[in-house]
Amino acid sequence: MTAQVIAITRPSPGYTRVYLQSDEITCHRFGPADGFKLLLPPSSEFSGSTSSIPMPTPERDATGVPRWSNPAAQPSLRALTVRHHDRRSGVISTDVMHHERGLLASWRTGLHVGDSVTFSGMRAEWYLPAAVRNVLLIADGSALPAALIEAIPDDVDVQAYVSAENTEDLSLIPSHPHLALERVTSLTNLLHRTPRLIRTGERVQVWIAGETAEVRELRRHAVEAWHVDLGDLIARAYWKAGVTSTEADAQRLPRFVQAVSDGADLHDPALAENIDLELSA
Ligand SMILES: Cc1cc2nc3c(=O)[nH]c(=O)nc-3n(C[C@H](O)[C@H](O)[C@H](O)COP(=O)(O)OP(=O)(O)OC[C@H]3O[C@@H](n4cnc5c(N)ncnc54)[C@H](O)[C@@H]3O)c2cc1C
Repeated sequence: MTAQVIAITRPSPGYTRVYLQSDEITCHRFGPADGFKLLLPPSSEFSGSTSSIPMPTPERDATGVPRWSNPAAQPSLRALTVRHHDRRSGVISTDVMHHERGLLASWRTGLHVGDSVTFSGMRAEWYLPAAVRNVLLIADGSALPAALIEAIPDDVDVQAYVSAENTEDLSLIPSHPHLALERVTSLTNLLHRTPRLIRTGERVQVWIAGETAEVRELRRHAVEAWHVDLGDLIARAYWKAGVTSTEADAQRLPRFVQAVSDGADLHDPALAENIDLELSA
């Protein structure tokens, strides 16, 4: 999908918000925290130049693996979240976190209103079964824009732990009548405390998103120490310390290809979780 940049704002110190418009967006049905992949020019990781030209989108081969007709033109992919969407006007916005280095930093600093942006997606990142009355959200700054909270019914109890760079960034989190929001310095602090919702002993859906190793550790802790049912646990690797997103994707590709040749269901969220979090089973 190719869209035009129609506005760029700075909603808080740690984020740039980009508004994208495309007629194709008017046809899409959005879910909460849908993810999409921005396609950036292949040479940009080396040159730092991300000039916004329309990029080729991948074909899917018979097994579902994405392929580019010209491998040399294969773009660099970066995942982002749909923060707001307005189907009638065909506009979505996305919040890009500022962190020290990376391709997205070159992209957002060189971006201008009127530029074209190509992306593929969407990938559903969340669902809430009607029977769930308690939701525990654990997110780092990369996952803060995955604004599930506005999709949670008003009568559901929500507890959220967010590791944001500064308190002003928490203003990006939507309000909710039953939201208890706490900023933590590191998500792994939660390995040493038990959230109130878990202590109630009631059924709780737990959503964790952030750095791969931290999410893997918290997921294990949620199952073993908090006794969260795997069916109520959504754990998402949003980035990986020490490697770029391109390198992390390349590391995961062999397992993905193996799963395809084993006949696995590519739409199974558990499969994506196993591969992304590099779980042994
Ligand atoms: C489904 C999904 C939705 C996402 N939504 C968003 C979103 O809405 N907004 C957003 O900002 N991010 C989001 N992310 C995370 C984002 O895709 C990654 O952080 C990505 O690596 C950023 O690319 P980059 O070009 O900035 O850095 P890269 O080139 O991938 O990495 C460069 C270096 O920076 C490190 N790094 C990468 N991300 C971070 C980070 N967040 N904090 C600290 N260091 C980091 C890497 O380990 C590497 O050392 C999402 C990820 C997924 C999977």
